[in-house]
Amino acid sequence: MTSAKKRPWKWEEDGMIAVRSIARTGPGCHEGCGVLLYVKDGKLIKVEGDPGFPLSRGRLCPRCLALTEVIYHPDRLKYPLKRVGERGEGKWEQISWEEAYKTIADKFNEIKGAYGPESVIFCTGTGRDIRPYLDMFACSFGSPNLAGFGPLHGNACYFPKIVTMAALFGGFAVADCAQAHPERYEHPEWKVPKCIIIWGNEPTATSPDGLLGHWIVDCMRKGSKLIVIDPRRTWVAAHAEIWMQIRPGTDAALALAMLNVIINENLYDEAFVQKWTYGFDELKKRVREYPPEKVAKITWIPEEQIIAAAKMYATSKSAVVQWGVALDQSKECINALHAITALWSVTGNMDVPGGNIITGQLFSPAAIVTQRHETAPEEQSSKRIGVGKYPLMDWANQIPGEALIDQMLTDIPYPVKAAWIQATNTFACGTADVRRTYEAFKRLDFNVVVDLFMTPTAMAFADIVLPAATYPERDGISQGWGIACIGTINKAIEPIGECKSDMEINLELGKRLNPEAWPWKDVREMFNSMLEPAGVTFAELRDKGYHFGPFEYRKHEKGLLRPDREPGFNTPTGKVELYSTVLEKCGLDPLPSFEEPPESPVSTPEIVKEYPLILTTGARTRVFFHSEHRQIPSLRKMNPDPIVEINPEMAEKLGIKDVDWVYIESRYGKCKQRARLSEGIHSGVVHAQHGWWFPEKPGPEPSLFGVWESNINLLLPSGWTGKSGFGYPFKTQMCRVYKIGESQNG
Ligand code: SF4
Repeated sequence: MTSAKKRPWKWEEDGMIAVRSIARTGPGCHEGCGVLLYVKDGKLIKVEGDPGFPLSRGRLCPRCLALTEVIYHPDRLKYPLKRVGERGEGKWEQISWEEAYKTIADKFNEIKGAYGPESVIFCTGTGRDIRPYLDMFACSFGSPNLAGFGPLHGNACYFPKIVTMAALFGGFAVADCAQAHPERYEHPEWKVPKCIIIWGNEPTATSPDGLLGHWIVDCMRKGSKLIVIDPRRTWVAAHAEIWMQIRPGTDAALALAMLNVIINENLYDEAFVQKWTYGFDELKKRVREYPPEKVAKITWIPEEQIIAAAKMYATSKSAVVQWGVALDQSKECINALHAITALWSVTGNMDVPGGNIITGQLFSPAAIVTQRHETAPEEQSSKRIGVGKYPLMDWANQIPGEALIDQMLTDIPYPVKAAWIQATNTFACGTADVRRTYEAFKRLDFNVVVDLFMTPTAMAFADIVLPAATYPERDGISQGWGIACIGTINKAIEPIGECKSDMEINLELGKRLNPEAWPWKDVREMFNSMLEPAGVTFAELRDKGYHFGPFEYRKHEKGLLRPDREPGFNTPTGKVELYSTVLEKCGLDPLPSFEEPPESPVSTPEIVKEYPLILTTGARTRVFFHSEHRQIPSLRKMNPDPIVEINPEMAEKLGIKDVDWVYIESRYGKCKQRARLSEGIHSGVVHAQHGWWFPEKPGPEPSLFGVWESNINLLLPSGWTGKSGFGYPFKTQMCRVYKIGESQNG
C-alpha cells in the first residue's frame, strides 16, 4: 500500500484553523476531491482545493466552492421534525432525537411484526460515502429491499454498466487517467492515451462517475486526441478530432459499426483476442449486420466519420473509452454497453496503461455486504422485490426500480408499508411517471426522510424528518470510485442545530433495531472496524492523508483477477466474454445488437407526426448535483431556470425565441422550461434539464415547491424498462415544444 508522507490534518493559518478533508455527501458528489476547510471562531469561512491530494491536486468546482452557502443556509433542517397535520400540509413539530428514534423504532418494529421486515423499504440517492451504512441498516433490520437511486426506473444510472462489465469480464473498469497511482502522470508505467473516446458525457463540466474533468484536460495537454459522441456540441466535442452528433439512443448501432470496421479491416489485437476473449467468431458474424453505410442512416452520423473514428481508435496505442450515464438511459442499454466493452477488448485496450483499467476497492463495502448476509436471514433474499422478474437483475442482486413502484401500488406479492428515504429527493429527480411514484409513496403507512433541506419528497411523504450533517460537520471515510484510494473526511466544525451525520443516524437507530449488528460504541469505532482490511485505523489514515492500494496493469496475465489465482478473467470461461454466457443464461441475447427506442422517428412514425422532436434529459450540469443546490444563491445565479436547449432553426420554425418559457410535451405529460437556443444541438433533438424544483415556492401541497411545474420526468410513462430489467428511455422520448400561451394547451 502506498501512503502519503505524514501530513497534518489540522493547523493554524492567518488566525484560522485549517482542516484538511475530502469532499463527500452532503451536498452530493461522487468525486471526493481534497479540500482545505478554513474555520474561524467555530465557523467555516472558506474552502480551498488541497494541492497535496493527488486525485484533485487543488482543483475544485463551483459546487464545493459554494459550501459555506449550503452549511449556513437559513433553510437547513436543524432539528428532528414530526408531522402534525396531514401529509403534505407542511405542519411540523420539533421533537428530540430520542423521541424521533423511539417513534421510528416502534413503528418499524410494529410493521415488522405484522408484515415482516421486507415490508419496510430503504431508498437512497446516488452512491456516495454514506451508502454502505444504509446498506447495513437495511440488512440489519432484515429487509432485502434497499433501492439504490430509489426507485429509479430501469436502475438507469451506472448500475447497467457495472452489471455488464461484471458479466463480460468479471470486473469493473475505468478510463486510465493515472488515477490509480499516487504519483499520477509521473508514474513510470502510465501512458498518455493517444485517443480518448468520450461517449455520452461532458466530464470537463460535470466531473461524472469518479472521473474528474480536469484529468481529460491534463491528458489533452499531454497529447491525447478526442473522439466525442454526443448529440450536443459540448466543450469536449468542440475540441475533438472527431465529433459524432449521434441520434439519441442509437449508441449500440454505432459501436457495432465501429466493431465492423475494426474486425473487417483487421485492426483488432489478434494476440489478445486469441488468448483472452471468448466468442470472437460469433461477434464477427453479428457485426456483419451493422455495416457503416447502414448504421449511418440509423445514427445520423456520416459513414465516413464512423469509419474514421473506428480507425483512429483502433490504431491508437493506447486508447480509452470514458463513458457516461447517457449510455445507461436507453431502453435496451445493455446492448450498447456490451458492444463498447467489446470495442476496448478486441483492440487490446483492456487493463493496459492508458486503456480501460480494472480497478478494485480497498475497504469495507465488501465487508458490509458480507455483514449483510450475516444479519439478513437467508430466506429474506428470496423476498427481494422483483425477484424472478429479470434473471440478470437477480444475478446482480438488484431491485428493479419500476417493479418496486408496482408492488407499492398493488401489494402483490406482499404489501410495502413504510419507507426509509435517506439522501434522495425521489420524485423530483430520477423516477419516470412521477405521478405514479407520488401515489405509491403517499400510500405507505409511515415514511422517514433524512436530508439537508426540506425537499418536495420530505414535504409530500414524510412523517418524521431527520436533519443530516454536511461533510465539514462530520468525520467519515472516503473511497475513490473505481480507484483503490482511501482517505478520511475530517470534521471541521460542529453541526448546526442538532444535525447528525448520516452514519451516526444509521448507527444509533440501528443499535435500537438490532443491537447485535451494530456492536460499535460510536462512529469512530465503526470506522476502525471497517478499515481493518486496509490495515489502518481512522486516526492513522487521517494523519497520513490517503492510502493507495497496490495497482498492477495486465492483471489477467498475472492471476490477479480470479479467486483461484489462475491467469484469466473472473468469468465462467476465464476470458472476456464477447459472447456472454451470463447473458445467455439469463435468457438474453449473448451478443450485442441494436433495437430502436420504443418511440422514435423509425419505430413510431405515426407518433412523430404530432411529437416530432427527440427529447433527451438526465445530463448533469456544472452547478447542480441532480436535484440538489437549487437554493444555493451563487449556483442558482449561474442557472436560474430550468433550461431546454433547442436548435435556432427549429426554434424559428416554432416561433420560439431565446429565454421564452415553453411547454415540452409528450403523449404522457408536459412541463415548462426556458428555451435556450443552441447551434450545438441537432434540429431534431431538444435537451431538457432534470431534477428541477423551486425551494423558493410554497412547500405545502399542492405546490410542493413547484415540483410539478418543470419536472421533465412527467413526460415519461411507466412500462418501458428494458428486457434485462436495466435501462429506461430517458434519452429518447418523442415530444413537441411550444411557446407558452400560444397554444390551446398553453
Ligand atoms: S467534483 Fe466538484 S463538487 Fe465534487 S468533490 Fe470535486 S470539487 Fe467538490
